[in-house]
Amino acid sequence: MKIINTQEPEKLVRERGILDVHSIFHTIQGEGPFCGQPAVFVRLAGCNLQCPGCDTNYTSNRKKMSHCDIWQEIVRVTGEAKTNLVVITGGEPFRQPEVANFINYLIDMKGYRVQVETNGTMPIPRELNYNCVVVCSPKAAKIHPSVSARADAFKYVMKSGNVNEEDGLPLQALDHRATPFIARPPVHFKGKIYLQPMDEQDDDANKANAQAVVKYAMKHNYIVQLQIHKYLGVE
Ligand code: SF4
Repeated sequence: MKIINTQEPEKLVRERGILDVHSIFHTIQGEGPFCGQPAVFVRLAGCNLQCPGCDTNYTSNRKKMSHCDIWQEIVRVTGEAKTNLVVITGGEPFRQPEVANFINYLIDMKGYRVQVETNGTMPIPRELNYNCVVVCSPKAAKIHPSVSARADAFKYVMKSGNVNEEDGLPLQALDHRATPFIARPPVHFKGKIYLQPMDEQDDDANKANAQAVVKYAMKHNYIVQLQIHKYLGVE
């Protein structure tokens, strides 16, 4: 069944000391540089884009929370587990620039490791702690210069037949219109580039997507990833 994302795009918001939070949960990180590691996810509400094929629910709940409120909820969902990784996701986290201060609070005051996931279209605040790992998964044709300068890794979801032969990266992502194609890592990018097959809920299509990922990863030296949380049956 084809997914159509009907969640409205939202503008950048600045609110000192407060974040608009969708949900906080304890799980296994299923992709990116911390793949396989237990993590607490903080999903922030709202996104500035509206990718038609996006299946992430980021608007159904929202609660204004202070840094301390969020930290207390992280502690509560972690319970007695030893998890020390927090993944900030969305929606689009940098739609709320206050997220940088919250990340710095988690790293500097509470001793967590933090990864943030972004679509790359919003500026990354200068004050963001350099120990925060930034993963960009482009959906639009351009990414903000601050993201090009700061991203540690890029992540692309691949659909067979939707690939630029020259660099082996997808032309579009989740049916978002990007002309001529979605943003690339900067020239001479030294970080990691992940390719993962798109899940189309169709065995034949998924097999073709997996074959495309293997082909272009081998040709261009990208890293193949599967969204292992889906295989593990966790959120
Ligand atoms: S940028 Fe990400 S969260 Fe936002 S609509 Fe696109 S896929 Fe969904």
